[in-house]
Amino acid sequence: MIKYVCRHCGHHLGSIDQQAVDASRLGFDSLTLEERESIISYESNGDLVANVICEYCQEALEQNPELLLLSNLLQ
Ligand SMILES: [Zn+2]
Repeated sequence: MIKYVCRHCGHHLGSIDQQAVDASRLGFDSLTLEERESIISYESNGDLVANVICEYCQEALEQNPELLLLSNLLQ
């Protein structure tokens, strides 16, 4: 199972029911290793969690870029 979760508000964006998740098939291989590690995490049951940004937060960040700085400080 691949779960997409907003890294900022924790909103569950959706999930893909797929066995034997291969991160390279999801387009993540175009990211640097550092980016990948910050975006992808694994749960104890083997599910892959992709920490993305939801539309709401994307919009909020575009209008208020300082929110990104704030959320980074809070992490
Ligand atoms: Zn969000």
